[in-house]
Amino acid sequence: MLTLYMTKSLPLFILAGALVAAQSDSISQQYSATSQKLIAAALEDQEGLARLQFLCDRIGNRLSGSPSLEKAIAWAASEMKKAGLENVSTPSVKVPHWVRGKESATMMAPIEKPLAMLGLGMSVGTPKDGISGDVVVVASFDELTALGKANVAGKIVLFNPDWKGYGGTVMYRSDGASKAAELGATAALVRSMTGTSLQTPHTGAMVYAEGIRKIPTAAISVEDAALITRYVKSGLPVKVRLMMEAHQLPDADSHNVVGEILGSEKPEEVVVLGGHIDSWDIGQGANDDGSGIMATFQAVALIKKFGLKPRRTIRVVFWVNEENGSAGAKAYREMVGAAVSNHIAAIEMDGGAEKPVGFGFGSGGEGRRRAGGPAAAPQPVTSKAAFDRAVEIGKLLESIDGGKMTPGGGGADISPLTASGVPGFGVHTVGTHYFDWHHTTSDTFDKIVPLEFQQNVAALAVLSFVLADMPERIDKMQ
Ligand SMILES: [Zn+2]
Repeated sequence: MLTLYMTKSLPLFILAGALVAAQSDSISQQYSATSQKLIAAALEDQEGLARLQFLCDRIGNRLSGSPSLEKAIAWAASEMKKAGLENVSTPSVKVPHWVRGKESATMMAPIEKPLAMLGLGMSVGTPKDGISGDVVVVASFDELTALGKANVAGKIVLFNPDWKGYGGTVMYRSDGASKAAELGATAALVRSMTGTSLQTPHTGAMVYAEGIRKIPTAAISVEDAALITRYVKSGLPVKVRLMMEAHQLPDADSHNVVGEILGSEKPEEVVVLGGHIDSWDIGQGANDDGSGIMATFQAVALIKKFGLKPRRTIRVVFWVNEENGSAGAKAYREMVGAAVSNHIAAIEMDGGAEKPVGFGFGSGGEGRRRAGGPAAAPQPVTSKAAFDRAVEIGKLLESIDGGKMTPGGGGADISPLTASGVPGFGVHTVGTHYFDWHHTTSDTFDKIVPLEFQQNVAALAVLSFVLADMPERIDKMQ
């Protein structure tokens, strides 16, 4: 923009004045026209949706270690090249290789019926004939402790906690098996992590505490958990047989996927954005997180299409293995090494592609505790100046009502970066249905509302471009 005013005929003092004026121009003045162009293009764009449909329908779900994940990785890299991204690469990452196998849960008493179940990711299997036992129901770890060994040993524990949102309930999925095993339980069941259910079980990662016997564990539907609870409350013993072939194979070779638009002035300074390319082994991983990788990719593809040349590098990354280990996020952090100090911001989309409302920005404190991962490390709080700037950038998204900045950060894949001081942005959506589909056979392409996906692309394109192009580094604003 500035170069337009720099004609030879201008006396130096006017030129200096123009420089000062340009530098103090508001973000809105500098970027409003470009943002409107990007938003309009995103709202008409069909390419991102077509890629997401291909990923879902033609490749399918993508668990770490599976051939379909490797197919998705190779395809994604070739699509990035086709879109004209630079330095496209697929750095190697070793990932855990858990296999579900056949599985079932059957209620044997007081009536016989199949239970809607999904084994939890990383669980061990049962012996060939399964595990049969009486069920004890608890709503909390405190209730389990109160029951004690005498009432738990030899039984199958069902955790049926009230739904207090994902973050407030997920510990029963991740830690329930070991807590039950400590008291001698033979298996653990958990009510699916959702507020709404149509007999749909939700899988997800679990983690065994060290030094405690590993027992098989599975999620059952909200309805079946409620039914078992009603029986037990009315004094009817419930007997269940659980059969799971789940097992762990040696770690597998996999890859992150990386592509860039190289910065025109400061290529070494990087704005990174992305999501995770792996998914659970059921459904299509459409919202979790096909939509996240395809929306971030398309945002960068549109910037490229317009021939925009941001001052800094914009890098899109599809991290691998977010669902059961976060090996891709850790490998990326190791790969960048000391260059992390030149990561000026990290943007993650991993909450589905419903209507975007804005971004969590800053501390990274909202990063979900991962099953098996450490609790979110204390994060440096970004400065008021940086937050105010984020709010200003958010105002460029007023026409789609998608730029509200709230204190927070991002998700699991950028947490190794935010833990190193990189400011994080996490896409926030209305989140009306995400946890209805999350980790189920129903997380399929039909749940993607085209306009809402396109709005996410628009928000990501504007945010990443402005962060990469504005004169100041947002991470250094004091
Ligand atoms: Zn996810």
